[in-house]
Amino acid sequence: MNIGIVGGGIGGLTAAVALSAKGFDVDVFEQAPAFGKVGAGISIAANALSVYARLGLVDAIVRRGAMLNRAIIENHKGTLLSTVDLQRAGQATGFCSIGISRSALHHVLVSALPRERLYCGHRLVSASPMPGGITLAFDNGERRDFDVVIGADGLHSSIRRELFGDSPVRAAGQHCWRGIVKRSAVERDDIATDSGVEIWGVGRRFGHVPIGEDSIYWYATLCERAIDFEVSDFARLPSVFSMFPDRVSSLLAATPDEAISSLPLLDKVPTRQWHVGRVVLLGDSVHPTTPNMGQGACMAVESAWVLAQCLARAHDVECAFTQYAALRRARTASVTTRSFRLGRLAQPETRFGAGVRDGLARLIPDALQESMFRDLLAGVPGDETSPDR
Ligand SMILES: Cc1cc2nc3c(=O)[nH]c(=O)nc-3n(C[C@H](O)[C@H](O)[C@H](O)COP(=O)(O)OP(=O)(O)OC[C@H]3O[C@@H](n4cnc5c(N)ncnc54)[C@H](O)[C@@H]3O)c2cc1C
Repeated sequence: MNIGIVGGGIGGLTAAVALSAKGFDVDVFEQAPAFGKVGAGISIAANALSVYARLGLVDAIVRRGAMLNRAIIENHKGTLLSTVDLQRAGQATGFCSIGISRSALHHVLVSALPRERLYCGHRLVSASPMPGGITLAFDNGERRDFDVVIGADGLHSSIRRELFGDSPVRAAGQHCWRGIVKRSAVERDDIATDSGVEIWGVGRRFGHVPIGEDSIYWYATLCERAIDFEVSDFARLPSVFSMFPDRVSSLLAATPDEAISSLPLLDKVPTRQWHVGRVVLLGDSVHPTTPNMGQGACMAVESAWVLAQCLARAHDVECAFTQYAALRRARTASVTTRSFRLGRLAQPETRFGAGVRDGLARLIPDALQESMFRDLLAGVPGDETSPDR
């Protein structure tokens, strides 16, 4: 069976590795002029690392990233609100979490695939069903036929729009800036080297995560209603976060403009339709998720693994797609919904709301938070190859 994957992001590339390992013929088409030229960092949690372990990639990922032993939440006055031990939370898989630059993760995935099956500079313009397959047409004039097509082309998926009908994005009402900075350029010893830290203020949040290679990834979110400047005017960020601990302004000041990017936070209400004919969706094209739980890419990784198992096991494509959607729908919908709500809860726009939030966060015992994480990180539900099943 030959499979065409549209989109060379974390979801598409992971699916390509998982399907190639099952003996399928796989080609990946990416619109960008090169694979892996992506900015910012990302945290990859135990549930996704357990997939990468089964694909033989976990050592390379761990080597390029930084181990995150704890997820810490503070408020902007420096009060500790919660600490989750990620080693204990991920113990069912034997992994904690990793902070890594997206380009390093892409590099590991691309290196695991044959170069000649990766096509950059190929923007999909149409996907046309034909008897027994699909014809893909690209903006460079190339056309290719496949038995099966996977739409892994992200939140604004053109495959989803063309074949499934579009659905509107849901705006979280928050804007996010992201940057990467060398630790040596910041010159502070109060920035955690083994933990992801998120700092909650009024209508704004700031997070910093070590990502290996002497680098720190940071993100900053602000309620859109409070933005009275051009989002590309990065010089304004230090004043927006001036009431946060000093390390925040140090991180912002040390980051060159070209290492900063920004985007509004969006997702979509979970859908029931994951496949049509011989085309199936994967990752942000079908379960886009706000970043509040750090699980969007992890869900794409899980979905890639489950889809490969279903295609390898089932007698026909329709049956494989039905099983895949049945295994993934509820879990991804739950993460999307919880993540959206968490974004609202974590970022109230009034001082009073922030006070209530901090009080509640301190009331919930760390052990309870850890047990909630434990369920999420316990591996890939429905995966019969999982060692713990
Ligand atoms: C601020 C922020 C922080 C986040 N942090 C985390 C985190 O810490 N942990 C985590 O697990 N998740 C995180 N996420 C979510 C994560 O980034 C996404 O869920 C993940 O990248 C989805 O991967 P994907 O491959 O499905 O889609 P994408 O990464 O969007 O990849 C889609 C690919 O398809 C290509 N493409 C699009 N259209 C076409 C076309 N017509 N033809 C060919 N190619 C096309 C695109 O160029 C792109 O390369 C975060 C998201 C944001 C916005």
